[in-house]
Amino acid sequence: MEKLLVHKNSGLDILVKVKNIVIGGEEKVIISGPCSVEGYDTMHDIASGLKKIGVHILRGGAFKPRTSPYDFQGFMEEGLKTLKIVGDEFNMPIVTEVMDSKDIDLVLRYADMLQIGSRNMYNYSLLKEVGKLKTPILLKRGMSATLPEWLYAAEYIMANGNENVVLCERGIRTFDTYTRNTLDLSSVAAIKQKYRIPIVVDPSHGTGRRELVARMSLSSIAAGADGLMIESHITPDKAISDARQTVSIDTVGQIVKNVRKFDGMFRD
Ligand code: PEP
Ligand code: MN
Repeated sequence: MEKLLVHKNSGLDILVKVKNIVIGGEEKVIISGPCSVEGYDTMHDIASGLKKIGVHILRGGAFKPRTSPYDFQGFMEEGLKTLKIVGDEFNMPIVTEVMDSKDIDLVLRYADMLQIGSRNMYNYSLLKEVGKLKTPILLKRGMSATLPEWLYAAEYIMANGNENVVLCERGIRTFDTYTRNTLDLSSVAAIKQKYRIPIVVDPSHGTGRRELVARMSLSSIAAGADGLMIESHITPDKAISDARQTVSIDTVGQIVKNVRKFDGMFRD
């Protein structure tokens, strides 16, 4: 790749501030919450549990990119409102997906960070639009994206003026079907070595199986990740979407403890 803004030699390593939380600094940042924003009571109980165990940022989708058009598509603006109310209540910044350029203004009224989902990583008009903002962007890896394609997607956002980009490795499609995706942690090590954008790992979509999330979380930290994004719920089996990969609040608590313990061991 030619000289790009994403390269380390283009400037200092980027620290992305999401309200009072810094991604890319010393502390590993934990983002957690349900796949989809559900009703107020459920979101309240999830956030309350996550706040107690030290989770930094609350997630939840209000616009859901679902494979089947007959599956739940998200509560849209109602979901955004719920997420914001709960985030304010527990003083947690919120991240949520924007699927379409036409929804940016709406989502911006509520969100502290915008997620660009895997399916939209190649949506260059959406990337250009969020590039015009100053709002932090969580850019997930396209499920079939090579490392350069993913980095060029980040470059689209940065070249349009928004350097507040965090990458999120969420696994890629391979021949293996045991896991939902193959979680590519070598991408994390490579990005930490050569590029200046923070990177977090989503072991939930990366595996599709809740029993693998804790181990892959620690593996991500070993690979150099600046943080994690984990799907969680008070009653994981009852989650409206992605129940199979959703872990309990207790499991996130265990992961947070272990991340703190192991983090020091893997520093260069
Ligand atoms: C999500 O994080 O809710 C999501 C839909 O993930 P991805 O875009 O990685 O599939
Ligand atoms: Mn999900």
